[in-house]
Amino acid sequence: MSISENLLKIKANLPEEVVLVAVSKTKSAEEILQAYSSGQRVFGENRIQEMADKHDILPKDIEWHMIGHVQRNKVKYMAPFVSLIHGVDSLKLLKEINKQGQKIGRKLSCLLQVHIAEESSKFGFDSEELKALATSGELNNLEYVRVCGLMGMATFTTNMVQVRREFKGLKLLFDSLRESLPGLEILSMGMSGDYKAALEEGSNMVRIGSSIFGARN
Ligand SMILES: *Cc1c(COP(=O)(O)O)cnc(C)c1O
Repeated sequence: MSISENLLKIKANLPEEVVLVAVSKTKSAEEILQAYSSGQRVFGENRIQEMADKHDILPKDIEWHMIGHVQRNKVKYMAPFVSLIHGVDSLKLLKEINKQGQKIGRKLSCLLQVHIAEESSKFGFDSEELKALATSGELNNLEYVRVCGLMGMATFTTNMVQVRREFKGLKLLFDSLRESLPGLEILSMGMSGDYKAALEEGSNMVRIGSSIFGARN
């Protein structure tokens, strides 16, 4: 099936209020334009340089989401155009994002990444750290950061019982943090292999790459 067919098929099965981030990392501008022609406007990348290069040459009404791990020294390259930064995993990084936003007078929207997988390699806050941060008042000092939700990646496994348990835990955390952070609206969870489970567990933003664009090299 073509990129357009894949995309339309996935979109047809998503509830209307769910945002689809088409994950285009490693894919060419031509491939992104195929999805764009079918109406897709939100794309996710995991490398800041690659996202900036694509932003330069592609239509300006595309919303670019940074879904990968963010190095503090590269925030400045995406600050002028990025729509949403999913992988924010430390207060230090939030402070750098705030600083770069302030420099250009642009408030930057962020999701806090939560470590829900059993693998130790996945980045993110753990839930206790996040509860402490949410009640600390620190976020209120960051005038150029808008914390608008949480993001998580489940363990890479075919054990869907485990994946669901991890998503359920993130949804519970999301609901409880909203009491101290009323701006939390986005729950970004679910990829090609697990987005259906994520939706059933309360996701309202899914990040789908290979099911749209085909396998990556
Ligand atoms: C690559 C990536 C995705 C998309 O993965 P697929 O399995 O291709 O859908 C989603 N989220 C993050 C953070 C990624 O790095």
